[in-house]
Amino acid sequence: MAHRTETQALHAGHRADPTTGSVAVPIYQTTSYQFNDAEHAASLFALSELGNIYTRIMNPTNDVLEQRLTAMEGGAAGLALASGQAASMFAILNIAASGDNFVCSQHIYGGTWNLFDVTLRDLGIEVRFVDPTDPENFRAATDDKTRAYYGETLPNPKLEMFPISEVAAIGRELGVPLIMDNTAAPILCRPFDHGAAITMYSTTKYLGGHGNSIGGVLIDGGNFDWEANRERFPLLTRPDPGYHGAVWLEAAKPLGPIAYALKARVTLLRDVGAAMSPFNAFLFLQGVETVSLRMQKHCENASVVAEYLSQHDKVEKVIHPSLQKGEARRRADAYLSGGYGGLVGMELAGGKAAGQAFINNLELLYHVANIGDARSLAIHPASTTHSQLSEEDLLASGVTPGYVRLSIGIEHVDDIIADIEQALAKV
Ligand code: PLP
Repeated sequence: MAHRTETQALHAGHRADPTTGSVAVPIYQTTSYQFNDAEHAASLFALSELGNIYTRIMNPTNDVLEQRLTAMEGGAAGLALASGQAASMFAILNIAASGDNFVCSQHIYGGTWNLFDVTLRDLGIEVRFVDPTDPENFRAATDDKTRAYYGETLPNPKLEMFPISEVAAIGRELGVPLIMDNTAAPILCRPFDHGAAITMYSTTKYLGGHGNSIGGVLIDGGNFDWEANRERFPLLTRPDPGYHGAVWLEAAKPLGPIAYALKARVTLLRDVGAAMSPFNAFLFLQGVETVSLRMQKHCENASVVAEYLSQHDKVEKVIHPSLQKGEARRRADAYLSGGYGGLVGMELAGGKAAGQAFINNLELLYHVANIGDARSLAIHPASTTHSQLSEEDLLASGVTPGYVRLSIGIEHVDDIIADIEQALAKV
C-alpha cells in the first residue's frame, strides 16, 4: 500500500545509500559518472537504458528529491531545476513554441507575470491573461494554438483559491493540460487530485522552508492524454531534430506516462542548463522531511494572526481564506485540507505611510522579498515588489497603498502577535 504523504516526505525515493548504507541522502557532488564500457555509454545516450550521464541532466541526490516530491504529489515523474522561475519557464517551453499561446490566470506571482508577458512574448509565445474567478474565461480564450492553462493555487495578494477542477475539466474537454503552481500550498493541496496535468513548485519557499536555497521542481502527473490530442502537441508528437528524430510520446512509452517530464529533462534541461545543484537538493530534502508539520503550524498561526488583525482598529481589511465568504471560501474549503495557508494580507487604514511605518517598526518579523520561510516575514508590496505598476494596475492586482503581506512562520504565535502589536501601535 502506498504510504501517506507525511511518510513519503521522509522515505520516498531512498532507503539507504547502496554503497555506504548512509541513511541521510548523500550529496553526490560530481559532474559526471564513469560508464561501465562503450556499449553502456552508447545505450545511456540513446535512452535505451536509463542511468547517470552528466549532472546538468541528472544527479542521484536530485533524483531522490524528484522521486520524493513526485510520490507526495501522486505524480509520475519529476524534474528538479535551479529555481521556481526555471520551472515555470520549462513548464511552458516544453509544449509551446513560437506562434503558440497559453491561457494564464491574472492572479500570479509578479516574476511569473514578467516571464510570461515579456520574455515568452519576445520568443513568440503569446500569454492570454484571464480572470480565474470565472473558469469559463479559460474556455473563451482557447483556440487551436492553445497549448496549456496556467494557474496558481493560492495566489497573493488576493489569496483567492484557484478553481482547479473546474479549469482542468474545461481543459480536458478541449485537450489542454492545466499546469498548477502549488508553491504556496504544499501538503494542503495536491493539484493532481483535482485534474491538473502538471504541478510546479518554487522549492525556495515552504518545501525548503529554511530560506537557504533557490530551487524549483516540475512534476508530470502522467494523467493527461497527449495521444488523443496529437495535433495540439507537435513538440511531443513529431520527430525532434534535437534528439535524432525521437518522438517523445513514443520514446517514453517503455518508461511509463512520462513523455512530458522525459522531454523536459533531455532537451530543455540539456540545452538551457538550469540544473539544481546537488547541495541544494540535499538542503531541500531536509526541508521536505518536516514540511507537513511546518505547514500545520504555519496555517494554525496564520489563522490566529488573521483573527487578531480582524479585531484591530488600525486594520481596515484582512485577507486570509479563513475569513473569506461566498465562492472564494467554498473553493478554499473544497481544495485545501489541513488549513488555509501561511500567507496573510492586511490593509492599513493609514495607507502607504502606515504600511511603510509598520514595516520599519517590526523587530521580530523579517522585512524580506520572500515567503514560506519558517521565520515570519513581511513586506509592503506597493513600495517594493509591485512598485513598477501604475496606480490603476496596483488596484487591479489587489495591492492597495496600505497593503502589507505577512508570511506567518512557526514561532510561538504570541511572539508573532506581540511584534505586530507593537509595530501597529507606532503607526
Ligand atoms: N511561484 C511563486 C508563487 C512564487 O512566489 C515565486 C517566488 O516568489 C516563484 C514562483 C519563483 O520562484 P523562485 O524565486 O524560486 O525562482
